[in-house]
Amino acid sequence: MLLPEAFINRTKELLGEEFEALEKALNSPPPTSIRVNTKMNYLPSTEKVKWCETGYYLNERPLFTADPLFHAGVYYVQEASSMFLHQVVKQHFPNARSVLDLCAAPGGKSTLLSQTLPETSLLISNEVVRSRAYILAENLIKWGNPNIIVTNNEPKDFGNIPGFFDAVVVDAPCSGEGMFRKDTGAIEEWSEYNVTLCASRQREILSSVWDTLKNEGILVYSTCTFNREENEENVKWICKELGADLLRVNQTENTGITATEYGYRFYPHKTRGEGFFISVLKKKTLPPGLKRKKKDDKKSIKSVTKEPVLTLSLQESDRWTVINENNQIKAYDTEYLSDILFLNKELKTMHSGLLLGEVKGSSFIPSASIALSKKLNRDSTEVVDVDYQTAISFLRKDAITLPNAARGHLLISYKGQSLGWVKNMGNRCNNLYPHEWRIRMKI
Ligand code: SAM
Repeated sequence: MLLPEAFINRTKELLGEEFEALEKALNSPPPTSIRVNTKMNYLPSTEKVKWCETGYYLNERPLFTADPLFHAGVYYVQEASSMFLHQVVKQHFPNARSVLDLCAAPGGKSTLLSQTLPETSLLISNEVVRSRAYILAENLIKWGNPNIIVTNNEPKDFGNIPGFFDAVVVDAPCSGEGMFRKDTGAIEEWSEYNVTLCASRQREILSSVWDTLKNEGILVYSTCTFNREENEENVKWICKELGADLLRVNQTENTGITATEYGYRFYPHKTRGEGFFISVLKKKTLPPGLKRKKKDDKKSIKSVTKEPVLTLSLQESDRWTVINENNQIKAYDTEYLSDILFLNKELKTMHSGLLLGEVKGSSFIPSASIALSKKLNRDSTEVVDVDYQTAISFLRKDAITLPNAARGHLLISYKGQSLGWVKNMGNRCNNLYPHEWRIRMKI
C-alpha cells in the first residue's frame, strides 16, 4: 500500500516508533466482523469482539449478498472498532428516551444504537445525502426495531428542535485515515488540505446540532481517522467553546484500546479492527432563552383511525395507535405519537413508525417494513418457509411459484426469518419485494 508521504510524516510524529507496526497492520488484510441481531439465535463463530456482546469476527469474508439471512437483517456487517459505541451506550445513556444519530448512513451505528437502547427509546437516524438516506432506511427497516425515524436533513435543521435529545451521536465525515486498508479511495482523496477542511467542517456540524441536545445530555463524537486535528483538537474545542465535560468509558478487559486525554483510539496494530476515535461528553448547560418547542400535534392526530382493513396484527396490540395517512396504514407507539408527529412536521422524514401496508380499493397490501419488523405477529399471517434457491429468487424479485401454498398474501421466510411478501395467485406469485432492495448481482 502506497501511503502519502505527508501522512507518513504526520503519523510518525503522532506515534513515534510505533508507526512501523501501524504501517505493517495497514498492509495486512482487514478482519471481517459482524454484529448479530437479536432476531435470531445466530452464532457465526466463537471469536467475539471484546467490547460488544453481539460482535463476532469471521474467519473469512463470505459473499454476504448471497446469504438470505443478511437480507433478513439477522446480522449487520460492521468493522469491530466502531462497535465500541455499545460500551458507550451501556455506560452513559442506557435508558435514553430520545437519541439522534446525526451522520447515520449506511446505518452501522444506528443499528447498534437501536439494538443497545431499550426498545422503548426513540431513535432519530439522520443522513444528509438523500441517496444514502434510502440505504439507511432500508438497513434500519431490515433490522426490525420499532421507534425509529429516518430523516434527510442538514445538521442546522436540528436547530429548530432545541433541547430535544438525551444523546446525540456525531460519527463525523472525516479524512478516513483509519480506513486506508479497506478503502483505497480514501488514500487517493487524502491530503493535508483535506484534513484541515474536515476538521473545520466537523466543528460546523457540531455547532449546528449543539442546541438540539438537552442540558446535561450526552454527545458522542467519533471519526475513523488518526490525526489530532479531527480528534483530540476538536474534542478540546467542544469542551471549551460549546461547553462540555469529558466522560470516561470503563474497560474491564485488556482490549488494546488507547485512552488519550480526550477520548479512545483504536489502532489496527493494537486492536483487531480499523482505525477509529471516539469521545464521550456531557453538555454543561443550555444557554438561557432556548426552550424546547411546544408540540402542537392536534391537527395531525385528526387522521387517526382505529379500525383499518388489516390482514395482519402486531404484538403488544395495545401499544400502538394506527393511523391512515393517505391510505398508508401506519402504527405508532402511542407513547411517542406526539413526539413523532412533531418531528414529522419539523424534519424531512423518510421513514417513521411501522408501515403496515397500503389500502388500494378494498384490498390491503402489506408492506415489506412490517414483514421484517420484530413486532409483526407472525401467527396472524400465512408463512411459507422456502429453500435457499427460492429465497434467492424471491430476493432478486424474480417470479416464483408456490403451487401447494394457500392463495393470497404469504409471508416468505427462510430458516424461520421473514424476507417479505408475495401474493399467491395459484399458478404464479406476485413478488412484492421492494424493487430498490432486490439483489442485482448474479449468484
Ligand atoms: N455512522 C455511519 C455508520 O456507522 O454506518 C457512518 C457515517 S460516515 C462516517 C459520515 C456520514 O456523514 C456520511 O454518510 C456522509 O454522507 C455524512 N455527511 C457528509 N457531509 C456531511 C455534513 N456536512 N453534515 C452531516 N453529515 C454529513
